[in-house]
Amino acid sequence: MASFGIVGSGIGGIALAIRIACLGHKVIIFEANDYPGGKLSQIEFGGYRFDAGPSLFTLPKLVDELFEIAGKNPRDYFNYLRLPEICTYFWTDGTRLTTYADAHETASEIAKILGEEAANIAAFLKGLQDKYDIISELFLENSLQNIKTWTSKKALRGYLNIPNLGLFSTMHDYHARKFKHPKTIQLFDRYATYNGSNPYQTPATLSVIPNLEYNIGAFMPVGGMIAITNSLCQLAQELGVEFRMGEKVDEIVTEDQRAIGIKTAKGIFAFDHVASNMDIRPSYKKLLPQIQSPKKLLNQERSSSGIIFYWGVNRKFDALGVHNIFFSDHYKEEFQHIFGDKTLLDDPTIYLHISSKIATEDAPDGCENWFILINAPANEGQDWNYLVQKTRANVIKKLSNCLGVDVTPHIVAEDILDPRSIESRTSSSGGALYGNASNNKFAAFLRHPNYRSAIKNLYWVGGSVHPGGGIPLCLSSAKIAAKQFQENN
Ligand SMILES: Cc1cc2nc3c(=O)[nH]c(=O)nc-3n(C[C@H](O)[C@H](O)[C@H](O)COP(=O)(O)OP(=O)(O)OC[C@H]3O[C@@H](n4cnc5c(N)ncnc54)[C@H](O)[C@@H]3O)c2cc1C
Repeated sequence: MASFGIVGSGIGGIALAIRIACLGHKVIIFEANDYPGGKLSQIEFGGYRFDAGPSLFTLPKLVDELFEIAGKNPRDYFNYLRLPEICTYFWTDGTRLTTYADAHETASEIAKILGEEAANIAAFLKGLQDKYDIISELFLENSLQNIKTWTSKKALRGYLNIPNLGLFSTMHDYHARKFKHPKTIQLFDRYATYNGSNPYQTPATLSVIPNLEYNIGAFMPVGGMIAITNSLCQLAQELGVEFRMGEKVDEIVTEDQRAIGIKTAKGIFAFDHVASNMDIRPSYKKLLPQIQSPKKLLNQERSSSGIIFYWGVNRKFDALGVHNIFFSDHYKEEFQHIFGDKTLLDDPTIYLHISSKIATEDAPDGCENWFILINAPANEGQDWNYLVQKTRANVIKKLSNCLGVDVTPHIVAEDILDPRSIESRTSSSGGALYGNASNNKFAAFLRHPNYRSAIKNLYWVGGSVHPGGGIPLCLSSAKIAAKQFQENN
């Protein structure tokens, strides 16, 4: 039995702990906060409950798999619902459109509201599955450093399909060729934000993201997103994983380019293997100052961050669903502001999530819990107090106009997160939500791998490393790291 120390209890760290414990090893997780989950945590105040970070759950099979490899029935720990409606979109000219889990229903709705050809939308959505299978095999489920990834049969299929994968066009240009109506293009461009990127720069390869929702499904865990963290922590503990909460790691101890332990204020703990679930940039800077860092990988553009308003609202709004988007009238400018000028547009796109539409216990009777996310640049020392207040006023104005009700008097409880607080709560560089942006065609190759032979016995998991941010990819990072661990030992 080997000993394994993990820095951080984000979803990537917990998933790796479960995988390593299932292989029969002793695992200890050191977590700086006094709660687990990092971005996947919750906040409660004034009778309202909010998931602090993620609100959209896709690919639940990746969570189920962790219970299955432990020989458990996932349903004894964790349950989820498939949402029949995926998102309601609002534009300032009064256009309103709902997308559905059923791809044909979505195609008909887009045809009805925007005049697209339903058959064209349906064919587009159906065609995503094949592309997704190729891309996920090549880029999401395996190490890009491992020669086997590039010599498998599936890789050959990938090479043959390279011209169809959209590496050489941007997502926006691709959608502009596919669809007639600017609002359809905007609707599908929006999926670039699912990994914190700019649709006017990110390769069209990422156009496959809606496959997750329309061909597989958008889900909601029973008990909220926090149920993912809680059920996995329960499983980890049953497997013997030890959690040392409120114990920040100060150093990953190395000897001869090999990780040999973890140092905290309480002492030095020797381990045979170590993994970092801390963001890659502070991991090198703060925990591994003795090691030469891979500068090119660390200097990649960071993904967007966000300003999040958690509002307790004292009435119900029937026009709203679980997931709602109020689009900016100046979408391209919005991304130029975020990624170019590192600031926020006065007319931002608003994402509004209301879990209490389904989980009524998340808000008092007759009330709703509004989680509002505005895409923002990563923290580079901007005047956030000013930007948050300006954005708050812009959000209230836009929502009031679109809903035909002044929302100000209905906000009865509030908390706010901005890139600074995301950074301080999770150590994510600049408060970036998804690690690196994917704003160029080489981005997938410029993410830090889950293992580098330059530092033996050290593994990397979470949103800032391969294959990227978001819950499914963080879970994949743990799977790839565990596979590499098995190959190494
Ligand atoms: C507002 C918001 C909305 C999002 N929406 C979605 C969504 O809808 N769907 C989706 O799939 N994803 C979404 N994401 C992204 C998703 O939350 C992240 O990709 C994922 O949770 C990151 O997990 P991680 O494993 O990288 O760890 P993190 O959540 O980044 O956690 C890292 C952990 O390590 C700990 N740590 C760091 N340094 C140390 C140290 N030195 N010592 C000890 N502990 C340390 C931190 O305290 C933290 O607990 C969202 C994120 C945010 C913030």
